[in-house]
Amino acid sequence: MLALMKTKSGFGNVELQNIEVPDVKSNDVLIKVAYSGICGTDLHIYHGTYDYDPPVVLGHEFSGVVVKTGPEVKKLREGDKVTVLPSIGKTCMQCIYCKNGFYMLCSERKSLGSGLNGSFTEFVSVREDMVYKLPDYVSLKEAALAEPLACAVQAVEELTEIHFNDSVLVSGPGPIGLLCVSLLVSKGCNVIVTGTSADHKRLKIAKELGAQYIIDVEKQPIQDLVNSITDGNGVDVVLECSGAGLAVKTGLQSLKKQGKYIQVGIFENAVQLDMNLIIYKQLQVYGSFAHSMKTWERVQRIISDQKLNLATIITHTMPLYEWKSAFELCESKSCGKVLLYYKK
Ligand SMILES: [Zn+2]
Ligand SMILES: [Zn+2]
Repeated sequence: MLALMKTKSGFGNVELQNIEVPDVKSNDVLIKVAYSGICGTDLHIYHGTYDYDPPVVLGHEFSGVVVKTGPEVKKLREGDKVTVLPSIGKTCMQCIYCKNGFYMLCSERKSLGSGLNGSFTEFVSVREDMVYKLPDYVSLKEAALAEPLACAVQAVEELTEIHFNDSVLVSGPGPIGLLCVSLLVSKGCNVIVTGTSADHKRLKIAKELGAQYIIDVEKQPIQDLVNSITDGNGVDVVLECSGAGLAVKTGLQSLKKQGKYIQVGIFENAVQLDMNLIIYKQLQVYGSFAHSMKTWERVQRIISDQKLNLATIITHTMPLYEWKSAFELCESKSCGKVLLYYKK
């Protein structure tokens, strides 16, 4: 089968290679990948700016169908529609974080698609405990959004409280930012989304999802709008999803006193920050890195209940052999979530 591999360290070094279908040992489940989303992490790995262990198959956000089960697999069977928690490919299971379900903080952790072979291929073999069965009526396209949705759910629901009617500024309308917008809108928040001119299409999707205001920061200052809609007080919450230094400063400036700042986007470079922006307004600052077991289980329910608008966020579905144009499309930002499916 063909697999999109990061072959060695450095910029680029990504190509389609032929590999064997993986083994299915005692408690393993062999899954035929249906859809696998391109994540910012895949782009960072392409650039060589995120940890990975080459050679490795990229891709970690996926849905699929069970095609084979190991002899000790108990709950899953052939034909089950599933999604996979890719983040616990390897964890120590012994540290305080693992024991409490905060696997993301385990120092021995390896995830599918970076430390272990991922889903930009035809078949993936994983342990049964990583596999989550979906109801038959759930769309496999939407189910492929489980992992990024978990990132958004942790940021919006689990670090602090964001209330009905709160004004929330989301900077960076990439797929995670858009998933946050969908959650915030469904909670009844007043959502402002900011992006650059390159984000034109993504800002339009944010509007379709129900954001009240969208701002191209290259054309319109944020502060004027924030002041006019909050009587000069500033917004209640900022969710920074772009990982851009300037957005951090603007976000902190846009907050009301005692407001909440949540950093979701990952930075490629260190950012200089005036800490007085935090202290004088007594801001609460949170970092949100991926998700925990509690988030993941909540996401399975969200996907099954089908209350959230996910379909609008998926703008492209492309065959794996077109991975290069798909990666370029994501880099250009003129898309929402791009899904790949296996086709030789
Ligand atoms: Zn991801
Ligand atoms: Zn651990």
